[in-house]
Amino acid sequence: MICFGPVSSRRLGKSLGINNITSPKVCSYNCVYCQVGKTVNSTIVRRQFFKPSEILNEIKKHLSKLDDSNYPDYLTFVSNGEPTLDINLGKSIETLKVFGIPVAVITNASLLIYEQVRKELRHADWVSIKIDAADNSTWRLINRPLDNLKFREHIEAINLFTSEYTGVLCTETMLIDKLNDSSYCLKKIAAVVKRVQPFKAYISISIRPPAVSYVKSPSLESLNKAYQIFNEFGIDTELLTGFEGTDTGYTGNIINDILNITAVHPLREDSLIELLNKDKADYSVVESLIKQKLIKVVLYQNKKYYLRNNS
Ligand code: SF4
Repeated sequence: MICFGPVSSRRLGKSLGINNITSPKVCSYNCVYCQVGKTVNSTIVRRQFFKPSEILNEIKKHLSKLDDSNYPDYLTFVSNGEPTLDINLGKSIETLKVFGIPVAVITNASLLIYEQVRKELRHADWVSIKIDAADNSTWRLINRPLDNLKFREHIEAINLFTSEYTGVLCTETMLIDKLNDSSYCLKKIAAVVKRVQPFKAYISISIRPPAVSYVKSPSLESLNKAYQIFNEFGIDTELLTGFEGTDTGYTGNIINDILNITAVHPLREDSLIELLNKDKADYSVVESLIKQKLIKVVLYQNKKYYLRNNS
């Protein structure tokens, strides 16, 4: 299958997915949390999977079946593996511009070491790069890259690409219990993320069965800590916890507001009180959401924060 959706994405609105890598998964990583399973075809050698004309025709057919209300906001390369392994990626991105829909690419960033890949990705309107680790051992533990990939070169390539790229750049960091959720690790990751100056940094958790069974989602305390540390570094951060929060702020519906905001940002106690006051609601609403296990209160530096409960 080359295209699917559109699916609702908090990052991209209605996103029509393009899988430009054939099954089974082909990737330069073998992430412990991968939802596509173990990488059997590990490589950093780019090759052809589909011709750009095949992708163009598939998308054309797909778009012709969609009504206006389903028309996508983005055409997104999100693959059964690593999309930049497709040697035709650059050509395909350029070919798809004919639809007038912005093109997004979600990449693990490992092939940015190649000048050609950096060049091709510059044509995408929106790029998300994976930054789960800020040191070689954590990188090898979580992403399990091929041996011939070198961490220092990887980070240098990310910095090079992000200094040249003029589209919308986002980062995504998968938080994993005990692997990268210590304060020490998080501060180092935040420093790497800060350097690339993303439009938005997303912190995600694994919500589907991971490739390796010992992989666990972080506690809400760790999730909140990660968010606060990223914020302390001055990074515009959002949580991707599987809840489709709309982050619309005050809408007059206090329950929806609390659920939507806490899905994206931990809500500090004083902000929560402010929200309750605006809606002329009292704390019993919060107690009820806690009782229903829809939100949870966690402490960080002696302050209370409220988060969507994912357990
Ligand atoms: S980079 Fe993506 S596709 Fe590749 S192993 Fe990691 S999560 Fe899976």
